[in-house]
Amino acid sequence: MSKSSKKTMTTDAGVPVSDNQNSLTAGPRGPVLMADYHLMERMAHFNRERVPERIVHAKGAGAYGTFTVTGDISRYTRAKLFSKIGNSCEMFVRFSTVAGELGSADTVRDPRGFACKFYTEEGNWDLVGNNTPVFFIRDALKFQDFIHSQKRDPQTGLKDNTMQWDFWSLSPESLHQVTILFSDRGIPATYRNMNGYGSHTFSLWNDKGERYWVKWHLKTMQGIKCLTEEEAGRIAGQDPDFHRRDLFTAIKQGKNPKWGVQIQIMPEKDAETYSIHPFDLTKVWPHKDYPLIEVGVMELNRSPENYFAEVEQSAFEPSNLPPGFGASPDKMLQARLLSYADAHRYRIGINYAALPVNKPRCPVHTYNRDGHMRFDGNYGGTVNYQPNSFDGPMDDKQYKEPPLHISGDADRYDHREGNDDYKQAGDLYRLMSADQKAQLVGNIVRAMKTVPKDIQLRQIDHFHKADKDYGDRVASGLGL
Ligand code: NDP
Repeated sequence: MSKSSKKTMTTDAGVPVSDNQNSLTAGPRGPVLMADYHLMERMAHFNRERVPERIVHAKGAGAYGTFTVTGDISRYTRAKLFSKIGNSCEMFVRFSTVAGELGSADTVRDPRGFACKFYTEEGNWDLVGNNTPVFFIRDALKFQDFIHSQKRDPQTGLKDNTMQWDFWSLSPESLHQVTILFSDRGIPATYRNMNGYGSHTFSLWNDKGERYWVKWHLKTMQGIKCLTEEEAGRIAGQDPDFHRRDLFTAIKQGKNPKWGVQIQIMPEKDAETYSIHPFDLTKVWPHKDYPLIEVGVMELNRSPENYFAEVEQSAFEPSNLPPGFGASPDKMLQARLLSYADAHRYRIGINYAALPVNKPRCPVHTYNRDGHMRFDGNYGGTVNYQPNSFDGPMDDKQYKEPPLHISGDADRYDHREGNDDYKQAGDLYRLMSADQKAQLVGNIVRAMKTVPKDIQLRQIDHFHKADKDYGDRVASGLGL
């Protein structure tokens, strides 16, 4: 908490308050009079202090920072940010757990949200990723079911391993992410000691109208550090806000965390012939096929002044894509383009983009007006329709994105048909050290031991298909 200079307390209307200790009563023993508007205002405001918590990623921590371009990728993108080495922009990053509520412990086994907002001179670019390069599902129609299985049992209100493994065992596309989640990296030591990934395939496009598919990687420069389940459990009891505290303290001490930003680039045409479905969120592009290219460094160097205003009200949107950045046909990304803004409108209202933490650092000229909590001048008397004869802002064809080539009949295609859900999970298992494999198997066995046998067997079949040794060891750990 920071100290403020001495001031007279007021009501919200600025009227000086003479007594904030004693309510207005009829006689010293009460009752309280309705005329005590100060008391009414304080109670009423208090009752409305909370906005709905995020349904996922409720618990988080955030900080401002700087992104600096260190590698030339101007041949892939016309984004001004990347026009030359040395360019930089302010950014805000929010880290989070996924399934826990606002007050939940930080050191749980869960993916971590890694949401970045780059305030570029051509508008906000939001890279809203995780600390994992893949996800549990590849079709957003399964997202609500997946999250229900990770949250609480409808009857008991308890988290339930059976719900989780039931869903995963019936959704083989989750195996890759499940393997990452239960590996040593499933509980980062701090937010500073984990990588971030854009996870989806996005695109970049240049002045010539050429599109490239791109995967974003943010590699921690503090080194990967993780917690064992035993350490994490102990910390969760002693300091549930361990990760939030660590980020704030590190920045206060001048230990500003940094990440190296890298990309993998795939020419647009390669997507048609590449053996791995390039728009499948459960798959990575092996580095030997598409090597990492250095792009820049991001450093977090300033904590917010007010947690609610800046972290709780921060609103990230994968759809924030300035000229030179684009989306891809990834089905999960397509759904997120819509869903994030929709969630913010519900949580913090239609004018969320004008809140200071979300407000672009470049001028905004839109015809959107009014709505709840329009707390700025609402564009005063300027024209609010287009076309108009009053010099209102104009759309500009120079920012037109190249066409996205799509083909095919509209249908509900089975995304599991002919899809190899096992190879990449197996590749990950095979690259682990003996100690990492032992941790992975131990973590899975502990999480599965209370799960009904038919679900255990169904899941072990998936581990087997990824790698025989992987399946055998989990089976033996469960006594099967
Ligand atoms: P590489 O040997 O080139 O890369 C292995 C990757 O695995 C590195 O990025 C490494 O991250 C990461 N890694 C190591 N241990 C873990 C873990 N416990 N959880 C998550 N990631 C881990 O191999 P490939 O590119 O051929 O990929 C092989 C497998 O590696 C993939 O199937 C995938 O599971 C995993 N992987 C691949 C990534 C990619 O983009 N290609 C990204 C992340 C994981 P680091 O360098 O930071 O140590």
